[in-house]
This record gives sequence, structure tokens and C-alpha cells, in this order.
Amino acid sequence: MQFRDLGAQYQVLKDEIDAGIRDVINSSAFILGKPVTELENKLAEYVGRKHCVTCGNGTDALQLALMTWKIGPGDAVFTSDFTYFASAGSSSVLGATPILVDIDLKTLNMDPDALEFQIKRVLDEGKLTPKVIVPVDLCGQPADYDRILPIAEKYGLKVLEDGAQGFGGDIRGKRACSFGDMSATSFFPSKPLGCYGDGGAVFTDNDEEDARLRSIRAQGKSPVDKYDNREIGINSRLDTIQAAILLPKFKALADHELDDVNKAAEIYTERLKDHVVTPTVLPGYRSSWAMYTILLKNREERNAKQAYLKSKGIPTMIYYPRGLHQQEAYKWMDLSDEMYPNTIEASNRCLSLPIHPYISEEDIDLVCKTIIE
Ligand SMILES: *Cc1c(COP(=O)(O)O)cnc(C)c1O
Repeated sequence: MQFRDLGAQYQVLKDEIDAGIRDVINSSAFILGKPVTELENKLAEYVGRKHCVTCGNGTDALQLALMTWKIGPGDAVFTSDFTYFASAGSSSVLGATPILVDIDLKTLNMDPDALEFQIKRVLDEGKLTPKVIVPVDLCGQPADYDRILPIAEKYGLKVLEDGAQGFGGDIRGKRACSFGDMSATSFFPSKPLGCYGDGGAVFTDNDEEDARLRSIRAQGKSPVDKYDNREIGINSRLDTIQAAILLPKFKALADHELDDVNKAAEIYTERLKDHVVTPTVLPGYRSSWAMYTILLKNREERNAKQAYLKSKGIPTMIYYPRGLHQQEAYKWMDLSDEMYPNTIEASNRCLSLPIHPYISEEDIDLVCKTIIE
């Protein structure tokens, strides 16, 4: 059994993917070829944003959005403590200070009360200027935008959605990567919409931001002349081959994969809900199930279950083994565990199970039976 079976998906989409790759090679348009524009248009329309600007990876997508807003030294950027490093690292590389926010143990997403607590703390200290909130759509479920967006409004902060895991999810039909002022996503192979290498995208409704994103991803070039550089940018583009791979994969995701993976999650929850803590999806929210994460009683039980599952050939992952406030890279911030009780709980108790749109009911049954015994 595989944790995320990308081979099973490839077998279904092989003809289209292979033809797409061959066409790109035949065209020799390896950088910013036609499939890139086609993909940008389709993704923007799907999520419900005016513009999609593809780039090299999800980390760059976050960084490009922050650069467009000129975020830098002295600025505070609020993000979840329980996430992949890039959610915070993308502001650190620009010299800004990430402010880590504890999570809600039910959804594993940013706790809006903890967010407001941190905003007030930064304002009281008076050293940094609060600028941006980066809510993370962890495991595929959109963050609690119903409560986060009013907080952003109240304090005059911008919102950058980290939709790296969230692509395909929605809140009452409004799709992930359309929340807040800008959104970022990743096409890392194991994400809900993954390519065969690195890739990412930024979404915005604002024409000026779209133009600046396109400039900054190409060394700050002017709109018409590649060798007329107006500001400091980076080099971050989506390869045409990756766009050609993503086009059929995106179609499959929209056509049936989201339904299939939701069906798989439903079966898991039905079988496991009386035995372990299963994921909570808020009413009106839909997940794209980048991960299916259960909570066990404590670290000992979690580790024992993981070892037992492994002995039976069932792969699981611990997303994530520690909070960002516990990372060596952020030791200098000297943040105490007491401020992050739910991150600590989650990191000790979480276990992510195999899930993807092509998983069989037999495999799910086997995973559940093995957990229960
Ligand atoms: C994967 C991920 C990223 C970064 O994406 P890359 O394409 O790997 O750079 C950022 N945020 C979250 C929450 C992620 O899961």
C-alpha cells in the first residue's frame, strides 16, 4: 500500500500526460509556453479569482505575494504554528517577523481567538507593525475564514491564504485559493493538485498585483522588455512541461477526484469514529483531503500504532512532529510551549493515514481494521 499512490493516477491519465509532455518537447517552448497560459486561465476561473500567476513552487508563491506588498523588516506576519515551514519561512527570508499562532485542535487550523491574542500582543509590545495574516488550509480544509476575515478587517491587515494543501476545498461553494487578498498554492507532487516536480501559483483579483507578480517572478522586469529591470525580483517560473502535466490532472481533479477522495474520507470516518479522534470538517466546509489525520490518546499510543501499522505494511506519516515555535531556526524568538498548547497536543497525537482519490475500499478497511485491533 502507498501513502499517496501517484502511480495509480498516472496509469489512468497516462495517454494525456505523455502526449502533453511530447508536445512540449516538439514545440521547444520549455519556458512560459502556451500550456502555462492555458493552465493559469483555467485555474483562475476554477477558484474564482481574476488572475493566476504560476511560479516555481509554493514557497516562492508565498514569497512573491509578500514581495508584491513590500513586506520586510519591522513587519509582523501572522501564521499558524502547526504547518509546513514555508508558511513562516517565506516572510523570514524577506526580513519580516513571523508571529506564530496556536491552532484549534478540532480542525488543526489557525485558532481565530489565538490570532487576535497575538495581534494584540504585537500591538502592545509596539516593536513590529502588524501587516499580513497567512492562514493555512491544513490537510485540505480551508482555514476558518468566516472568523479570520473580520479580524483582518478590524485591525487593517491583509490576508494571504496559504492554500498549498487546500486547492479543491471550499466554503459553501466558494473555492479555496479565493479567500483574502491573495492566495498561494503548491503543485508539489503529493499536494491535491500536484505536478511531476516543483510548481506553484499565486491568485489575485487585483490587476496591479497581477502585473507586479509577473514582474517580480522575472527579476523585476518591465511588462514589455525582459532586459529593463525596474526592481529586485527573483526567477521563479512554472516549466511548460509541468503545466502540460497539470492540465489533465486538473481536469481529473475537478471531474471526479475530489468526489472520490471525499468518499474515501467518509468511509474512514465511518469506520474509525468510535475508536479514535477523526478529523472535524466545519459545517459548510469541504476538504480536498491533502491528508487524513487522526489523533490518538498520547505520543506513546501514536508511536506504537504507527510502528504496528508499519509492521503490517501500512505507511503513515506524522504531519507535523513539532510546532514551528519549536524549530531550531526560530529558537531565537524564545517562544514558550505554554503559548501553544494545541500545537503541542497535535504534534504528540497526530497520525496521517494513506489517502488519495484512487485508494480502494479494501485498503481503507485494512487500515481501519489494523488501527482498531
Ligand atoms: C507544501 C507546502 C508549502 C510549500 O510548497 P512547496 O511547493 O513545497 O514550496 C507551503 N505551505 C504549506 C502549508 C505546504 O503544505
